[in-house]
Amino acid sequence: MSNKSFMMTHNAQDVIVVGGGPVGSFAAWNLAKRGIEATVFEEHAAIGVPSHCAGHLSIRSLKNLGLYPLPGKIVENTFSAANFYSSMGTRFSVRLAQSVTAAVNRTLFDQYLAEKAETAGAHYRLNTRVQSLLIDDGFVKGVNLAEGDGAEEKAYAKLVVDAEGISSRLLKQAGLSALNLGGLVYAVETEVENVQDVEPDAVEVYVGKTFAPGFYAWLIPRLDGTAKVGLAAKNRNPRECLQRLMRKHPVASKQLAKAKITQTAFHSISLGGPIPKTYSNGFLAVGDAASQVKPTTGGGVVFGLTCAEIAAEVATEAIQRNDVSSDFLRFYQQRCVDALSFDSSVMLRTRRFLDSLSDEKLDEALRFCARLGLGKTLGSVDEIDFQGQAFLKLLTKPAMFAALGYFLLLYFSANP
Ligand SMILES: Cc1cc2nc3c(=O)[nH]c(=O)nc-3n(C[C@H](O)[C@H](O)[C@H](O)COP(=O)(O)OP(=O)(O)OC[C@H]3O[C@@H](n4cnc5c(N)ncnc54)[C@H](O)[C@@H]3O)c2cc1C
Repeated sequence: MSNKSFMMTHNAQDVIVVGGGPVGSFAAWNLAKRGIEATVFEEHAAIGVPSHCAGHLSIRSLKNLGLYPLPGKIVENTFSAANFYSSMGTRFSVRLAQSVTAAVNRTLFDQYLAEKAETAGAHYRLNTRVQSLLIDDGFVKGVNLAEGDGAEEKAYAKLVVDAEGISSRLLKQAGLSALNLGGLVYAVETEVENVQDVEPDAVEVYVGKTFAPGFYAWLIPRLDGTAKVGLAAKNRNPRECLQRLMRKHPVASKQLAKAKITQTAFHSISLGGPIPKTYSNGFLAVGDAASQVKPTTGGGVVFGLTCAEIAAEVATEAIQRNDVSSDFLRFYQQRCVDALSFDSSVMLRTRRFLDSLSDEKLDEALRFCARLGLGKTLGSVDEIDFQGQAFLKLLTKPAMFAALGYFLLLYFSANP
């Protein structure tokens, strides 16, 4: 992928995509497949770098998006189990009948999507930052660009797809509300060597306010003894929280006693659910830019890719009809709501519930789940992204019903 893979023309092209993350590239790929001329502007000199993400994704969702199996070394490991630990060290394990998640190398994954988009006909301009939108007569008509060498330029398009991630600097200019800062957690993602006492096919999750207030910490092992270890927390320095977890958590401190951190990245995650409006005249917001992220786990790749595909379909139709007005583009939001809103609202409520529990209550809940044999009941789960639907399916099982009753009791005792 070259720095300047095409000559910039000043005639309006079909679509400009802001950001060459997974969501921007998947949108560009889906647009190009439909014969739409799309150009992706990416501010970094290379796609997928720097990476800030654990890349833990549901295999079923990737298959539904036509993205699994993935080639080469993109998939680092697959998982059929998860161990949840309270701050006191109580463990609740879920072992599934088959591998349901994969850890992908985010740099390679992003590059794969960009290559697919480029092969389908999309153009890429790296090292090129979108500074602001060009707006004329109430319609977004293009973008102001700044290149790595400081040169400035304008680029025009019939439609701009904003996939710039959590920075989401363009929303306001497009007349949309910015991300809800109250829903942000601050995260650290590390690469670690010398991890001990972990099962190679299980993801480790550490919950509780003592170590990760407002979110949780994770350890995602690779087969070679290295792991991705991360933590996010609300209103707290994630680096300090991670150091504390590594030193003091009853289980993590043992697993990470000899660990050596080889890479560290910091980034925020938006847990507040999608922004209220994701479109305006000539403009669509997608992915992290629109907070299309699971409020329970902070996973945004599958939700973002799902909405990117919808955005490409609606944008294609808008361009073919020569109607990029918000009146037509509202179908994008409607279809995203149909695809995500049930699961997103179940997860939002679950996140609020988890946030409301003290560490003692969480510990009690994990003990209860283990006693009830809920790990076995959850064994048939094959979906981690659309958690509302997965939850509904499980409600037919007696143990799950008992657990629901227990959690409701817990909820009301934690929220009198
Ligand atoms: C620590 C951490 C762990 C995570 N783990 C997971 C996980 O395990 N599973 C999961 O599903 N999700 C995870 N996520 C969330 C996931 O990383 C995001 O949801 C996902 O990257 C969103 O993709 P995106 O393309 O919308 O945004 P991004 O991946 O952020 O891509 C945006 C791109 O736009 C570019 N850009 C930004 N502004 C401009 C501009 N003005 N001009 C040009 N280019 C611009 C950026 O350089 C970037 O390349 C994690 C997040 C964090 C912080």
